[in-house]
This record gives sequence, structure tokens and C-alpha cells, in this order.
Amino acid sequence: MNTDNRRFDTRAIHAGQQFDPTTGAVIPPIYATSTYVQDGIGGLRGGYEYSRGGNPTRTALETQLAALEGGAHALSFASGLAAEDALLRTVLVPGDHVVIGNDVYGGTHRLIRRIFGDWGVRHTTVDTSDLDAVRAAIELGTTKVLWVETPSNPLMKISDIAALAELGNEAGALVVVDNTFASPALQQPLELGADVIVHSTTKYLGGHSDVIGGALVFGAGDERAEVAERVTFTQFAAGAVSGPFDAFLTSRGIKTLGIRMQRHSQNALAIARRLEEHDGIERVYYPGLESHPGHELAGRQMSGFGGMLSIALTGGGEAARRFAESTELFQLAESLGGVESLVNYPSEMTHASVKGTEAEVPESIVRLSVGIEDVDDLLADIDQTLERL
Ligand SMILES: *Cc1c(COP(=O)(O)O)cnc(C)c1O
Repeated sequence: MNTDNRRFDTRAIHAGQQFDPTTGAVIPPIYATSTYVQDGIGGLRGGYEYSRGGNPTRTALETQLAALEGGAHALSFASGLAAEDALLRTVLVPGDHVVIGNDVYGGTHRLIRRIFGDWGVRHTTVDTSDLDAVRAAIELGTTKVLWVETPSNPLMKISDIAALAELGNEAGALVVVDNTFASPALQQPLELGADVIVHSTTKYLGGHSDVIGGALVFGAGDERAEVAERVTFTQFAAGAVSGPFDAFLTSRGIKTLGIRMQRHSQNALAIARRLEEHDGIERVYYPGLESHPGHELAGRQMSGFGGMLSIALTGGGEAARRFAESTELFQLAESLGGVESLVNYPSEMTHASVKGTEAEVPESIVRLSVGIEDVDDLLADIDQTLERL
């Protein structure tokens, strides 16, 4: 079925998800196979030769991902970081320079600083919500990648994708947007001029905390097609592909993405407002609040504010730890984006790897991934936690 002219929620359910032609099974099968029979040497059926190079379950997911982001091509990887690694090692050579947000996912910062740093790639971290700072950080001729994450992690800063895409493209840099936090249901960076989208599909796309995966989605146009082709080769040659079971789980999760993101957004806003009222909370970082500095921009470039929020505790690190260890429904764990609510203490958990760097997260910060449980139960959990501060 060609879903190009269908709306988002229809594409999420149908793009790449044709019924099985041999049996009529409504759901495309999980092709648990490493290799494919050839009809004579080189006689491939549907182009499949060996599952590192291609697998129909993975193709189904990649088609779905490209349709959701409005991209020309998508690749599915074993993890979000595997996707980032494949992209960066394809487009960078030693001596190149990367501009990266100062509030990005800790693992992205670690990958660029430690793995690519050792390889001779330099980077500058900047507040990407400050366009002048980004302009000043770009080194004409050597900056090859501008890496944007919005909303950022964990401080939920909002960066202007359209303005950054213009800045990056003028400088000849590839503009990469990590769209994990918003998901394509709430934000469409390719439409705003980005070149490549990165996802940890582990989070909202999978949506059920039961699979690790990553993806790249490439925008249309000759230059981007050329990058996509080179990254496809890297994926094939270096091998960080997603397996068929992982691809299936991710595809299944994606079908409910639109409706989940609506509920995540509603629940998170209710919790942000409740937290904002309490003396023990110094600040609530949620783009859906009028008090958030990026509220207006988020309203323009997103179609909802999402399920992630962070808080700064008035009582500092000690109070933050107590908060993170006192919730009941919000389970203390890394990761985010699942149907269940999670609480995380970034400075010791997700962002421990950036301690002592320019991307360090203050000890007073707690991050919440607000799930899609009944909001009254979530609010009651927040209330009992606040009483214990
Ligand atoms: C989790 C995450 C990643 C890394 O993805 P993995 O699937 O854990 O490798 C990258 N970016 C963001 C924003 C993330 O939350």
C-alpha cells in the first residue's frame, strides 16, 4: 500500500506493513533467517542475500520510519549509539570538527569526545538554543557536523531547528537532529530543513521498554542520498544492524505512537503544573509550561510538548536523591519513553559519563519520564513523594 498521501497515524500503522502475500497474514512475518536461497548463482528473490545486508522485517521497519519522518531513506540499527557511530564515522575524517549541544544525551557526548576524539575529530559544545553561540562555534571549512538535540536532555532546552539548519547548511555542515525526545509524532525536523534524523528507537518509537534499537532517517535530495548510500555501506560493512525480532517489536510499538504521545503530553503537563506549585521544587523544566524559556518556540516547532520533564530541587543534591528514591509508581531506572513512568537521577545515572565535562548535570536535577498510566495515580505518587521531602 502506498501511504504517501495518508496522515501520520495511518502511515504509522500501514507504511511498510503489507500483509504476507503467501498466507494473507495481516502482520508481516518475523523473518528469522540469516541467509536466502538463490535461484542459480546471484538469482536473489527480492534482493535479499544475507541478513546483515538486508532482512524483510528490517525493511518493513525502515519503510515505516522513513514514512513517519517524511524521509527518503531510513536505516535501522542495533542501538541508537550504533546509528550515531555509523553516521559519524561515515561523514567524518580525522581533523574534522563537530559542533554539539552542551546538554545532549550523555552517551552521544561520550561517543564524540572519547571515541571520535581519539580518532582525531575535534568538537565544541555549545548551547544550541543560542544561535550566536552556534555561529561562533562553527569553524568554516572544518565543521562537518552540527548536532542538535531538542528538547535536550535532561534540561529540556528548545533549539530552533529551522534557524540551525540554515546556519549549518550555509557553513557546509551536515545538520543532524536527534529526534528521540519529541518523536516524529510531535516534531518533523526534516521539514524544518535538517539533513539527517537520529533516533534511539529504544525510547518512544518502541515505546514499551522491551527492545534496544536505533535509526537514521535521511531527507530527500542528491547530497543526502549520497550520504545515505555511504552510511548504508558502513552499516553493511561494519554490521551494527537490528535483528528481526527487535525490528518487529519496534514496528509494533510504532503503530500506537501518535496516541501514546498525546497521553504522554497530557500526563506530563498535569505533573509539571503540580510540581511547579511546591516550595521544595526550585524549577520545573517542561516546554509545555508558560514559564519555560522555549515555550513559544516549542509551540511553533512541535505539535505537543512530550512526556519528559526535569526538576531542580530547592534542597539540592540530597533532596533530589530523596525524591528519586521515594516514588512508587515512577520506578527508578535509566531510559525513558515507555508506557510506564520512570524516575532518573541524571548526575549519577544517565549522565554519569559526562561528570567533570562541560556537559555535567547539576546534582539537584531529577528527570521524569511520564508514562501513560492514569494521571490521578501519577499525581498521587508525586504528592506522596513531595510530602517526604
Ligand atoms: C537513549 C538515547 C540515545 C542512545 O540510544 P541507545 O538506544 O541507548 O543506544 C541517543 N539519544 C537520546 C536522546 C537518547 O535518549
